[in-house]
Amino acid sequence: MVDTTATGIVVALQANYLEVELHDPPEGIPGRLLCTRRTRLSHRGSSVNVGDEVCVEAIDVVQARAVVANVASRTSWLTRPPVANVSLVVVVLAVDQPSFEADQASRFLLTAERTGLDVQVVLSKRDLLPPDQLEQLCERLRGWGYEPIALSSETGEGVEALKQRVKGTALAVLCGPSGVGKSSVLNRLLPHLSLRVGAVSGRLQRGRHTTRHVELFAMGSDSRVADTPGFNRPDLPNDPRELGVLFPELRQQMDPWPCRFRDCLHRGEPGCGVSTAWERYSLYVSGLEELISLSRPGRGG
Ligand code: GDP
Ligand code: ZN
Repeated sequence: MVDTTATGIVVALQANYLEVELHDPPEGIPGRLLCTRRTRLSHRGSSVNVGDEVCVEAIDVVQARAVVANVASRTSWLTRPPVANVSLVVVVLAVDQPSFEADQASRFLLTAERTGLDVQVVLSKRDLLPPDQLEQLCERLRGWGYEPIALSSETGEGVEALKQRVKGTALAVLCGPSGVGKSSVLNRLLPHLSLRVGAVSGRLQRGRHTTRHVELFAMGSDSRVADTPGFNRPDLPNDPRELGVLFPELRQQMDPWPCRFRDCLHRGEPGCGVSTAWERYSLYVSGLEELISLSRPGRGG
């Protein structure tokens, strides 16, 4: 046992133990420690989870064990899967198989935007589309306010661009519909990992979900990626007024506030300074209508 403390990040949970990777292991101390929590931590009701920045003490050098004494406050918290301090949400959308659907893609993008974190779009399976059509799709995504990274886990094309993007952020998590190739992308990013890749099955071309526990893997010195695909069930905010900011192409139009009305929902009302000439406008309006009908009193929303 050494009488020193160290800081690190929780990279995995194992039953009642936390696996902690030290940021800067002091001389003679292993870089990865199996830790318990100080009981007062649980008494305070503060849970410790993957992604948490922690301070460890009572380090047992021989057994590579320690005790988590303190948890830093979180910069972000995702619940599905539970991960603290995520800084980048990577939304993976296939160019084909399953075919690109603006509606479904947007659901995932809106859910990603709800986290308030940086969002990176990845267009996967680029090998399935001729270059001119791929460029059209990229251009379409730019119209939605995103600069997509198009890649193929088959050919490896574009994978390096995503690696660089992930290396530029502290903690990235992937999400997207089943079967778009998330596990394949993670296998490309973390070659030592070998996640099971689910075959796209049946007429619906939906893949199976094959991964469960969250674990963080280092990519370069200061960045990590969660090995588990993130939220798979997209959802929308309860308040219709919160929908607009989730569309980057609409958000860009709202600074400075262009409308005569403070509570404007930007549906072409006279005095509203927001254009209705954008591709996802109709999607925005139908989303609004859905939220308004759900939030009507007496509907249990
Ligand atoms: P996930 O459900 O999003 O994790 O998707 P998987 O990684 O399990 O992949 C689903 C299916 O798509 C598998 O049959 C993969 O072989 C296939 N796939 C994944 N990446 C690519 C790619 O870049 N190109 C092509 N053509 N197929 C891919
Ligand atoms: Zn308006």
